[in-house]
Amino acid sequence: MPVYEYHCKNCKKDFTLRMTVDEHDRQLPECPSCETKEGVEKRIGGAYVITERKS
Ligand SMILES: [Zn+2]
Repeated sequence: MPVYEYHCKNCKKDFTLRMTVDEHDRQLPECPSCETKEGVEKRIGGAYVITERKS
């Protein structure tokens, strides 16, 4: 599952969330610090995928 980076303009903090591409397209998350969506913006190109390899 990809991890997306967001930035909250309210508290000027970056945070990352793990969600499906579908969820990411549909909704903007709440900032975990101030619990509002108002100042949250997507960081374009901030998505990356954690690959879990068992070796
Ligand atoms: Zn915030």
